[in-house]
Amino acid sequence: MKTSALRRFLKYVTYDTRSDEHSSTFPSTSGQLDLLRELVTELQQLGLHDASMDDYGYVMATVAPTAARDNTPVIGFIAHVDTSPEMPGHDVRPLVHEHFDGGDIVFPDDPSIILRVADNPPLAAQIGNTIVTASGLTLLGSDDKAGVAEIVAAAEYLLSHPEIPHGRVRIAFTPDEEIGRGADHFDVTRFGAECAYTLDGGSRGELEFESFSADAITVTFKGFNTHPGYAKGRMVNAIRVASDFVARLPRDMMSPETTDGYDGYLHPYQVHAAVDATSVKVLVRDFVTGKLKEKETYVQELAREVVRMHPGASVDFRIEESYRNMREVLEQYPRVVDYARQAIRRAGIEPIERPIRGGTDGSRLSFMGLPTPNLFAGEHNFHSRLEWVSAEDMDSAVEVIVNLCRIWADQSLITNP
Ligand SMILES: [Zn+2]
Repeated sequence: MKTSALRRFLKYVTYDTRSDEHSSTFPSTSGQLDLLRELVTELQQLGLHDASMDDYGYVMATVAPTAARDNTPVIGFIAHVDTSPEMPGHDVRPLVHEHFDGGDIVFPDDPSIILRVADNPPLAAQIGNTIVTASGLTLLGSDDKAGVAEIVAAAEYLLSHPEIPHGRVRIAFTPDEEIGRGADHFDVTRFGAECAYTLDGGSRGELEFESFSADAITVTFKGFNTHPGYAKGRMVNAIRVASDFVARLPRDMMSPETTDGYDGYLHPYQVHAAVDATSVKVLVRDFVTGKLKEKETYVQELAREVVRMHPGASVDFRIEESYRNMREVLEQYPRVVDYARQAIRRAGIEPIERPIRGGTDGSRLSFMGLPTPNLFAGEHNFHSRLEWVSAEDMDSAVEVIVNLCRIWADQSLITNP
């Protein structure tokens, strides 16, 4: 199936849509609005006349149902337009490598950057395909402009193939996913879908419906500051207390450096240090929400134990919920994932199902009333200058979207003839 995904993708990556976690505006950067406006225009040109952007920058649009499919449940497809704040995303120069022969791809703007099959096993399956990379100075932005391009291309495909039955299909493009705000102002009621699929995954065939449950715990140690020249017997240095605490956090287990698969972790990732007060922010991750609490209790007990070794010091805690394992919601709607599996198989691909050791916008949307698993978009090495995507994988993702629309329509005829 040949689609317009590649052509669209090559245009979208030229927009600088890097998000910024230090910004207090929404969206966090204006470059995202430029691409979102462009998407409204493109969707309208395709014939999605209700395409519009709301006050927060979210773009939504509808592909109208084919004849007599009004009763099919409304499903949605979602992708984010922003790119990682960790990497340069301006003046992206996408390079198209046709008929990939398995040899090294050297990036012209920085020849020290080389994409090799040996370091990237999924590339071995791409011999003969069209690979897109950046040029060496920036990321590419396939996370998640590949997903955006696939959704627009799928809408175009459905409109030009009216013989494919489908219900009402909703589309949304969102800002600020990379800084964890992508679901903040998502209007689930206005979207009006029974379920949705984010197109924001990696290798062809990936289907993700399990994510971490995540909290952050801020541990603040309070000491007592005084002039260091006259501090004998009086000063309590919160930096020393916090250092003892960090040194005692588990390292050989329960840490990001030593866990994978279904194991959760504790990850100290930010310290604000001063003698008077030092706070340590610790990410808490587990696939089982109940086990987050156990890990948090462990952190609190450890911190209190350290404080007892430093007379005069004290500690307090703040726990913030980040997101929850979407599986807890998706288990209640088994056909949402089942139909995705069928849609992938119908595209001739074996589904690859594995837990996400992180969160997606779908993790939050699922708990906001919109069950949302994640489908592959073909992105690889995201948040890196070695990022790549293949045109064939993007076309496969479009095919999966089209298949899903058809499967929902066919299944609803069976269940409510
Ligand atoms: Zn993404």
